[in-house]
Amino acid sequence: MIEKMKVSLSAPDLTGEEKKLVMQVLSGKNLSMGPMLDSFEKEFAAYIGSKHAIAVNSGTSGLHLLVRSMGFKTGDEVITTPFSFVASANCLVFENVKPVFVDIDSRTLNIDIGQIEAKISPRTKGILPVHVFGVPAKLDRIREIACKYGLKIIEDSCEAIGAEYLGKKAGTLGDAGVFAFYPNKQMTTGEGGMIVTDNDEIAASCRSMRNQGRDEGTEWLSHDRLGYNYRLDEMSAALGLGQLRRIEEILEKRNRVAAMYQEKLANVEGVSLPYSGSGAAGEKISWFVFVVRLEPSVDRNEVAKYLKLSGIETKPYFGPIHLLPLYRRLYRYNPGDFPVTEQISKSTLALPFHNNLTAKEISYVTRVLKEAIAKTGKG
Ligand SMILES: *Cc1c(COP(=O)(O)O)cnc(C)c1O
Repeated sequence: MIEKMKVSLSAPDLTGEEKKLVMQVLSGKNLSMGPMLDSFEKEFAAYIGSKHAIAVNSGTSGLHLLVRSMGFKTGDEVITTPFSFVASANCLVFENVKPVFVDIDSRTLNIDIGQIEAKISPRTKGILPVHVFGVPAKLDRIREIACKYGLKIIEDSCEAIGAEYLGKKAGTLGDAGVFAFYPNKQMTTGEGGMIVTDNDEIAASCRSMRNQGRDEGTEWLSHDRLGYNYRLDEMSAALGLGQLRRIEEILEKRNRVAAMYQEKLANVEGVSLPYSGSGAAGEKISWFVFVVRLEPSVDRNEVAKYLKLSGIETKPYFGPIHLLPLYRRLYRYNPGDFPVTEQISKSTLALPFHNNLTAKEISYVTRVLKEAIAKTGKG
């Protein structure tokens, strides 16, 4: 018997710096649209290398504003991936834009670029690639297609802060990008997100729409266009600012945890390690989660149950979006439509992964995982 431990799937990593900044807000008078928001946006833009950064109250809100500011509307189609968190497709559905899915590459788990052109129709207006699990999608090839057909690119970078492709940060490779700061992401604001772009018009329309459709400098009750309340409050902005100032340290800690897992799980039968990059110059992965794949002979759900009984939290990341009841009903998607996505979805298991996961915890997870595979294999 191994001594039982409790290992959570994710955990925030907050220091005195973040707390100091949040307390500063609480001792002042400005709880929304104040100086923390301004600093968070400015420092974020500088870190990412974008001209503009517009903070919002979630990654989903950011995606929604970009869909609107690109002018995608009812009847339009946008090409995206069915292997993602549901928000990357829902943001299109919000505006009656059809998500046209393209299957994924079985190694990187990102959209299979070779299959994109076959899905382009006269109604196609854009491409929405997702940097899944922090692995940067090959945006140079996606841009070539976008240029050829006159399409806009929204990068869902919600899982990829700090990832790089061709030496440029994820989020800066398309027309605009979005980051998310939910507590399980690399950095958190509690709830929150950030839109980044070099395009002045997109930035201005997102800024206005997050604030009830007001233009900068207009009266509080003057609404120039349809808008929302997608504002990020000062407490959240302060937390984000503190986290952003530690981002290099955070990403380094995550690299270390990933490396420990890679070492421990290198030769475990029935387990394949997550993709960890092509080794190409200028490419950098940002570890969001640590998702292993189990061989078809291993019953993933039974393994997950066994781990849970041993105190270890895991998650099957992701389920195919096209098979969600809403998507089947609205767009008539069916099982078998995207076979790589469906097959991979059945085999994935996200293991506990956060900045401060210890070597002892990783050893425990590895030992229990091996035990689970031995006991639950279909043989
Ligand atoms: C987290 C995430 C989002 C949305 O972020 P929220 O802040 O939770 O709204 C969007 N897309 C992907 C791929 C994500 O992982």
